[in-house]
Amino acid sequence: MSQPAITVYGAYWCPDCRRAKKFLGEQFVQYNWVDIEQDKTGEDYVLTLNNGKRIIPTVVFEDGSFLVEPSNAELAQKLGLETEARMTYYDLVIIGGGPAGLTAAIYAAREGVETLLIERSGLGGQAGITGAIDNFPGFPEGIGGQELADRMVQQARRFDVEILQAQDIGMLAWHNGYQCAQNSEGKHIHGKAVLIATGASYRRLGVPGEDDYIGAGIHFCATCDGPFYKGAKEIVVVGAGNSACEEGLHLTKFADKVTLLVRGNELTASQIVIDKVTEPSSRIDVRFRTAVDAFEGANSKLKTVRTRNLDTGATDVLHPAAAFVFIGQQPNSAFAKGYVEMDRYGFVLAGHDLVHGREIMGREPFAFETSAPGVFAAGDVRHGSTKQVASAVGEGAAAAISIREFLKTK
Ligand SMILES: Cc1cc2nc3c(=O)[nH]c(=O)nc-3n(C[C@H](O)[C@H](O)[C@H](O)COP(=O)(O)OP(=O)(O)OC[C@H]3O[C@@H](n4cnc5c(N)ncnc54)[C@H](O)[C@@H]3O)c2cc1C
Repeated sequence: MSQPAITVYGAYWCPDCRRAKKFLGEQFVQYNWVDIEQDKTGEDYVLTLNNGKRIIPTVVFEDGSFLVEPSNAELAQKLGLETEARMTYYDLVIIGGGPAGLTAAIYAAREGVETLLIERSGLGGQAGITGAIDNFPGFPEGIGGQELADRMVQQARRFDVEILQAQDIGMLAWHNGYQCAQNSEGKHIHGKAVLIATGASYRRLGVPGEDDYIGAGIHFCATCDGPFYKGAKEIVVVGAGNSACEEGLHLTKFADKVTLLVRGNELTASQIVIDKVTEPSSRIDVRFRTAVDAFEGANSKLKTVRTRNLDTGATDVLHPAAAFVFIGQQPNSAFAKGYVEMDRYGFVLAGHDLVHGREIMGREPFAFETSAPGVFAAGDVRHGSTKQVASAVGEGAAAAISIREFLKTK
């Protein structure tokens, strides 16, 4: 994808500048950042553009045009993102443009189902922000996450999927016999069927340096990224639950030693997993009451993990090949809360996992159908999903076929 050369002029203390940078980042748009507090030339340039006024953010585009204090909507328009739906009613509205949503869109549109896909950030979802995907079939040398995402988007466009970007769905409701998705500006889009494919976000520690080294030494998926560290001396794992312990055990296949950093004073995984972690031959060194204070690196690569003992305050410095953070996942499902059944973590229940769906619908749910008739869920947001690109793609395809069967009843 060709990236526009954009420069954002602002200052570190300016919340509006952070908002504009966040928006560009979420759309995977590269930009240069000039802090005018640090850069006199930059400050002079802003003063020149704004007739002597020091207004930030000032965003300058490749063609020399610029926007002053632009809203997200103005930025989206300037970037040429499609933000307005062409129609009011669709056969299928897909919320989420990750691998699950894009695959469902390809399958549905190819069969003539009028499909609208709505994405709030960059198309491709989590896959789009992954440096290299090594385990997606068909790419023997692996493939860049952004490239895989771009290919899926191209394929969806070939089948005339209408795609809206920079649109955050905030609510689902039943309206005039249609499922209705409402965006954060209150606009409504109606569908005979809706697919929730909004994925999940890995919980982060929120410590300095974390954002800088994600994908460059900091990871959230051992199955995905563990093999990159074959032969490493040490890998750090952060967390205490089943994921942290199981992934820590998995990572001992690649590293001589795994150091498990646990905030509390016990592991919270199942006993059988705890036994495996704590047995002397496990090569896992568990450090309780230990918090990560910061991640540091050099040459765009993680080099150091700074830790602190929460009881004694003693600090330590580790130099692992990588750090894997497993402190839970947060499903992107808040907009559907109260509308579809969810598990206690907010993952959406669908198909056989439904508890009350049959009573509510008076029939067996279709595969991937939620407790709201005609609303389906696929990919990482679904309870029981396996959080991989290949499985998200598989669920997207299967959900689209199930939706086709549902639409036959309409
Ligand atoms: C750093 C990293 C590395 C990974 N590496 C691998 C790997 O090597 N191999 C592998 O198989 N898997 C990997 N994964 C996991 C894989 O990327 C996910 O399992 C997969 O992307 C899930 O697809 P999905 O479509 O279900 O959800 P997502 O990819 O999460 O896509 C969901 C989309 O929905 C959008 N969305 C959310 N809420 C809303 C809303 N309210 N309105 C509009 N849009 C919304 C999001 O912006 C997002 O684009 C990795 C994940 C991460 C984070």
